[in-house]
Amino acid sequence: MNWLEIDNKHVWHPYNSLPSKTNILGVKSTNKTTIYLNDGQELIDGMSSWWSAIHGYNHPKLNNALKKQVDIMPHIMFGGIAHEQASILCKKLSDLTGLNSVFLCDSGSVSVEVALKTAILYQKAKKKDKYKFIALNNAYHGDTLGAMSVCDQTNSMHSIYGSYLPEHIFIKEPTLGFNSDYSESIKDLEEKLLKYHEQIAGFIFEPVVQGAGGMRIYNPNFLKDARKLCKKYDILLIADEIATGFGHTGKMFACDWADIKPDIMTVGKGLTGGYMTMAAMITSKNISDTISNSEIGVLMHGPTFMGNPLACSVANASIDLLLETNWNENVKNIENIFDIELKNAQKLDLVASVRNIGAIGVIELKDDCYAQEIQDYCVKNGVWIRPFGKLIYSIVSYIIEDNDLKKVIRTMINAIRSIEEKR
Ligand SMILES: *Cc1c(COP(=O)(O)O)cnc(C)c1O
Repeated sequence: MNWLEIDNKHVWHPYNSLPSKTNILGVKSTNKTTIYLNDGQELIDGMSSWWSAIHGYNHPKLNNALKKQVDIMPHIMFGGIAHEQASILCKKLSDLTGLNSVFLCDSGSVSVEVALKTAILYQKAKKKDKYKFIALNNAYHGDTLGAMSVCDQTNSMHSIYGSYLPEHIFIKEPTLGFNSDYSESIKDLEEKLLKYHEQIAGFIFEPVVQGAGGMRIYNPNFLKDARKLCKKYDILLIADEIATGFGHTGKMFACDWADIKPDIMTVGKGLTGGYMTMAAMITSKNISDTISNSEIGVLMHGPTFMGNPLACSVANASIDLLLETNWNENVKNIENIFDIELKNAQKLDLVASVRNIGAIGVIELKDDCYAQEIQDYCVKNGVWIRPFGKLIYSIVSYIIEDNDLKKVIRTMINAIRSIEEKR
């Protein structure tokens, strides 16, 4: 059996059946923004590996950081032990976010779990039994139990789990559009807070861009108003920056658009430049002090691979690289190209709307039945994207060449055109 046959027989892929009902591509290697397939074909990467490969693949500085660290110390348990790379990383994250206390996690979903547990603990430390969270409709926060419970209840991939999930409180999502009126959503938040604040530990949201739950861009001012309302009731503001963080929206963190500081932030995806699985939950000093000085005293969580030195070293190299390059100019340039090129999609019959911010571009179709066909067309024409439902979208590495980005967008549009022509 060759390894693709083994894959087909033994390997379960994300959000898929076994064997997969859709075509799985064998990838041989990657470089910068190119994916080299087993069959010799080359694809331009329009996904940056689910928002993570912000510097492209195989960047010499990131490769070297890992090579160096593997000889020093590949892993050491984090219980009762400190090491240099973790210390450096936590200081960097603290400086970047303006928050103090960092808990390293092994994936984004885990950092969301830890954020929810921490919020409950903080409230308990203040002698309040508050076990509920407010979340936005269309939210996506991950695939583990707690994270699933704050994802959109019907539109998410998790509705099938029904009563297995804890029940939380959902509010109307802010209207689509960076400059749109969001008053209905704030009104809903205000009403729910008034009614349920005695049970609510925190409000969790994806700032400015809701990702996997609909690729929705909304007005950052919503966050300013939410900040004020939550402060009033001592309800923690939990910003899930796992997708938006490290520059994807044109600011280092999407919360920067609203000039707000959340109480808790989760980061992941781009944290290691797409090299290693790692995420972090970061809180204000007030939260860690309140918990640590209470009867509870400790945060009961500790993944085996917490603070893995390889992941820390490549995260440090990735953040350094980001800060020493003109990432914001690169992201601005990407945004400008999306601005211009996506206009050509707007006119198509199958297209409901287009939107973009930073390194993120989205075409929303009127129907949800074309995703696979569009993906197949793009692969055939040298572009890797992975649409879902009505959403044909691209998130690119900040190093992508202008012509490659144009090819990604134009191929997406041509794919939609080809379907229109066939109808
Ligand atoms: C991807 C994502 C997660 C989950 O992260 P994993 O590393 O896949 O567990 C959580 N929240 C948001 C906003 C995400 O985009």
